[in-house]
Amino acid sequence: MTVQKTYSMIKPDGVRNGHIGEIVNRFERAGLKIERMELGMVTPEQAKANYAEHEGKPFYEGLISYITSGPVVKMVISGEGAVAKCRSLMGATNPADAAPGTIRGDFGLIMDENVIHGSDSPESAEREISIFFA
Ligand code: ADP
Ligand code: MG
Repeated sequence: MTVQKTYSMIKPDGVRNGHIGEIVNRFERAGLKIERMELGMVTPEQAKANYAEHEGKPFYEGLISYITSGPVVKMVISGEGAVAKCRSLMGATNPADAAPGTIRGDFGLIMDENVIHGSDSPESAEREISIFFA
């Protein structure tokens, strides 16, 4: 394992429902380091760049309007195997399938509002960090 950086973002429902502290706590307890953290809005340009791979899918327009609908917490997280570690702390994309003890399993209700985003590879992480922390 090597030290990696990943991009993670607490989505508008996670912020609105008051889960910031608990989520950050879980990352830190897992030995990950919060390198950068910022509360703020996602611009439509950032949303489209971040989710470019999903353009044209049925849920795309809803996803863009949802992620820009309220404040999020943007984070750069580092640590041994940070990309996979974050994804495993997050749980499955659909909260209905996410195991108890994962962030989505504990705080998510529906696919459209699933609490948290995390880069899926070191390459995505580099790309996403440059979108949100230019
Ligand atoms: P992940 O966030 O786990 O990497 P994806 O990259 O597949 O998942 O999808 C990005 C985001 O798009 C998901 O987190 C979710 O918010 C939304 N999404 C994905 N699939 C659907 C779907 N079928 N219906 C509604 N929203 C979806
Ligand atoms: Mg993804």
